[in-house]
Amino acid sequence: MAADRQWKWANDPKLNKMEIAKLEKDGLDVIDTIINKYAVEGFDSIEGMDMDRFKWAGVYQQKPKDGYFMMRVRVPGGIMTSEQARVMAQIAKDYGRDLVDVTTRQAIQFHWLTVQSLPDIFERLASVGMSSFEACGDCPRTIVGNPLAGIDPNEVMDTRPIVDEMERFFLMNREYSNLPRKYKISISANVFNTGHAEINDLAFTPAKKVINGEEVIGFHVWVGGGLSAKPYLAQKLNVFCRPEEVVRVAAAITEVYRDNGYREKRTHARIKFLIADWGVEKFLGELVKITGELETVGEDLTKGWNAGYFYGLHEQKQEGLYYAGLSVPVGRMNAEELVELARLADVYGDGTIGACNSQNVLIRNISSDKVEAFKQEAILQERFKLAPSTFVAYSVACTGNEYCNLAVVETKERMRSLAQYLDDTVDLDTPLRLHMVGCPNSCGQRQIADIGFQGALVKTEQGMVDAFDIHVGGTLGIDARFNQKLKARVKADQLGPVVAQMIGVYKEERLENEEYWKYVDRVGVEHIQATVDRILVTA
Ligand code: SF4
Repeated sequence: MAADRQWKWANDPKLNKMEIAKLEKDGLDVIDTIINKYAVEGFDSIEGMDMDRFKWAGVYQQKPKDGYFMMRVRVPGGIMTSEQARVMAQIAKDYGRDLVDVTTRQAIQFHWLTVQSLPDIFERLASVGMSSFEACGDCPRTIVGNPLAGIDPNEVMDTRPIVDEMERFFLMNREYSNLPRKYKISISANVFNTGHAEINDLAFTPAKKVINGEEVIGFHVWVGGGLSAKPYLAQKLNVFCRPEEVVRVAAAITEVYRDNGYREKRTHARIKFLIADWGVEKFLGELVKITGELETVGEDLTKGWNAGYFYGLHEQKQEGLYYAGLSVPVGRMNAEELVELARLADVYGDGTIGACNSQNVLIRNISSDKVEAFKQEAILQERFKLAPSTFVAYSVACTGNEYCNLAVVETKERMRSLAQYLDDTVDLDTPLRLHMVGCPNSCGQRQIADIGFQGALVKTEQGMVDAFDIHVGGTLGIDARFNQKLKARVKADQLGPVVAQMIGVYKEERLENEEYWKYVDRVGVEHIQATVDRILVTA
């Protein structure tokens, strides 16, 4: 559709190298080249900027760029079927060294893929209605949302049809495959913000408004959120959107960004920079030039924040049915375990599985007469626990330097063992969310953690060693704010004892049931800094 289109920025002399590459060949065109050329001729045949365009196929080179790839598969709204799970498990077994990761954007990630394997993987995914296309790249990526959509007692509407419509509209749509930078969409009608609205480029959150004397349930619209080195919280537009308008409004917002977003520096191209410069009023002015007048805001229905944790068995909105929230420590499993999840979904539920932005999973629609038998399943005792220990339960980690070229340090195994160490040494009865990332890009969403760890290196007499900067006090929802950096770069081997002592002090000083981020807010970051300074003197 847009192949011969003359984009309005095409002659801008300041375009960066990737922008010029995208004008020469659209990112989506690499999919055909992979299938018809690179998969046949092999890794060494990959030419010029095509390696960068691989992202539009949902594929990145994995570290150390010696012929293997990482792939992300879209799981729109975080809901997949058991059939899809089995196909992905087989892909992991056949091509991905038995490794399956659940990501913080509710997607599934493989590693160790060769270019020769990609056409078969694309086909296998397509056979069950899935795709890795545009899961990466400067385009609308995996749509995140409520993994409980349709069964959720805390949702004001079932968002599955809207997510499906949005997915069908944007996926492989060449009108939107050349955006200035990555573009992340969230749609959730859960009143506890399961879609993490504030950290998305575009988000829809539940709202209501009386229009012509009738109460309408719909959405408020947020733009300009994102993490990385310069994090921004999304801002609310003065718009109320009826459910049937969501895709039309999303398309228009994306068009405003596509045509006005910055294309000079890759680090200054996300929509958040445009919103920060323009302000939401100017952005809305451009938006309504496309959509025509829109309803102004109504009443927000968001009441708080659930950071993507649903452990245990819970009643659904449908009487007699339950959903089960299961722990997948740092989101990593193997193919056999994914097959087990598919079996649980078929035997006990309706064959659907939820993927959470906390890197955990859900089994949906378990009938009450099957609950007891479900609880006895062996894999729930050993691996995917209904009631995991406190720190393992609330730990998130990005890919880290095991596979990621941008990583400064290892994160996955380190976060898992740090959480285990804390569970073994600290007795805490309330959730404390820990996120670990290997670099400022923050795929592990470090900024929203109660305590966030960002990998760095520190100079010692023995040379450079792995270390972490510590950030405290992040949350989303009504009180959304990013965590703040302490002046303390802690060597990796000291991290466990230092964090254990920090949490010990929190336990002594907190008010009853006070969450960690609220404690930080009350006592102040300077107080936490003084605590950590004291701890480090003796570390
Ligand atoms: Fe890689 Fe950095 Fe993302 Fe971690 S946060 S996966 S290290 S880019």
